[in-house]
Amino acid sequence: LARLFLDRIKQSDLNAFIHVDENLTLQQAAESDARIAKNDTTPLTGIPIAHKDIFVTRGWRSTAGSKMLANYASPFDATVVQQFRTAGMVTLGKLNCDEFAMGSSNENSFFGPVKNPWDRNAIPGGSSGGSAAAIAARLAPAATATDTGGSIRQPASLCGVTGIKPTYGRVSRFGMIAFASSLDQGGPMAQTAEDCGLLLNAMTGFDPRDSTSLELPAEDFTRDLNNKLQGLKIGIPREYFGKGLAPDVEQAVRAALAEYEKLGATLVDISLPKTELSIPVYYVIAPAEASSNLSRFDGVRYGHRAKEYKDLGDMYRKSRAEGFGDEVKRRILVGAYVLSHGYYDAYYLQAQKIRRLIAQDFQNAFTQCDVIMGPVSPTVAWDLGDKTDDPVANYLADIFTLSTSLAGLPGMSIPCGFGQGDKNGKRPVGLQIIGNYFEEAKLLNVAHQYQ
Ligand code: GLN
Repeated sequence: LARLFLDRIKQSDLNAFIHVDENLTLQQAAESDARIAKNDTTPLTGIPIAHKDIFVTRGWRSTAGSKMLANYASPFDATVVQQFRTAGMVTLGKLNCDEFAMGSSNENSFFGPVKNPWDRNAIPGGSSGGSAAAIAARLAPAATATDTGGSIRQPASLCGVTGIKPTYGRVSRFGMIAFASSLDQGGPMAQTAEDCGLLLNAMTGFDPRDSTSLELPAEDFTRDLNNKLQGLKIGIPREYFGKGLAPDVEQAVRAALAEYEKLGATLVDISLPKTELSIPVYYVIAPAEASSNLSRFDGVRYGHRAKEYKDLGDMYRKSRAEGFGDEVKRRILVGAYVLSHGYYDAYYLQAQKIRRLIAQDFQNAFTQCDVIMGPVSPTVAWDLGDKTDDPVANYLADIFTLSTSLAGLPGMSIPCGFGQGDKNGKRPVGLQIIGNYFEEAKLLNVAHQYQ
């Protein structure tokens, strides 16, 4: 199985992988074979998986899609990587992503953009663009991804695969290269909700090495897959169907909602009034945390170091100027600004207050419905290069995913059809399903009944 996928990866021109090492993979496959021979297995033993290059791995380089870490070799595995090894999964390699997971199109990667397998002129989405493209093109049956403001759900949607962002704190952040720590959450991508459930079973659980890890009893996330949806109340947020939503996306999403009605669910009109504010709030809080997290890349401890410099200060400046790309620098500047004396109250503190109100909107909504549904992305995948000169246009495309992240809620994307694309034919559309805290099993159930 590992050989099959390695061969496909070798033949692929999508640029989904940053680092592959066939010998390491085949060695792990042999170890899993030995376990299978001894009947020492889990449902995942011997199944290949590829990791977003935000999770550090021993053996494979760990780059975060950045020149800063282009040659970085981690001395340890991220908890998630370790958990999948313990389950017997075989690592295929490291997946391309936006630099430090900052982006919505995978065009911010130092290693170049990833192509959308459905249409090679289109972006795959981001920041987990390599993960989504690899699953869609069958280069891997399973992948890890991370979601800070939509980076699991949006690329899954644009590439027509299934992905779930768990409740914040479900998945360990230990060894997940930090972007915005109060938002970052790892999760799986695969073909189906059922596969995502099996992967979640292995990748969740308390980790004492992550201070925000949740201490909860172990769960089987596949337990409810076959529950019927009779009587399910689906909240439809008005704000997710307003102006800015492309007609082809709306049509595919509404068709999926009609299917849910046939499955016995009822649609309930709800409101998430602060939806629009999620963009300015997120783009204050995430850069603030990023500016702090990325201060560790100083050319001393690890990562890129400038070749020539006059003194220590010059070395810091040059190393960071050379090592970080434009989007990362933009966020460090914004973050340092909103945290600075005199601006902290006006921007950062204000954003934190609205963040709380956004979370409250969801709690009000969940008194009227069991799950919330809507689009993931306001449009299908756009053309490569279309928005590279316009960071704000990229930020606006995050409108339907940011609030879930700010509230720490679980959310997923499942394929629900195709839009017309801009000019190049059909591109996938994803349906977003949002649940209350800890309701991943319910989300997977709702997704599975449709699939
Ligand atoms: N597109 C958002 C950003 O650029 C979200 C990225 C993410 O979830 N990692 O920050």
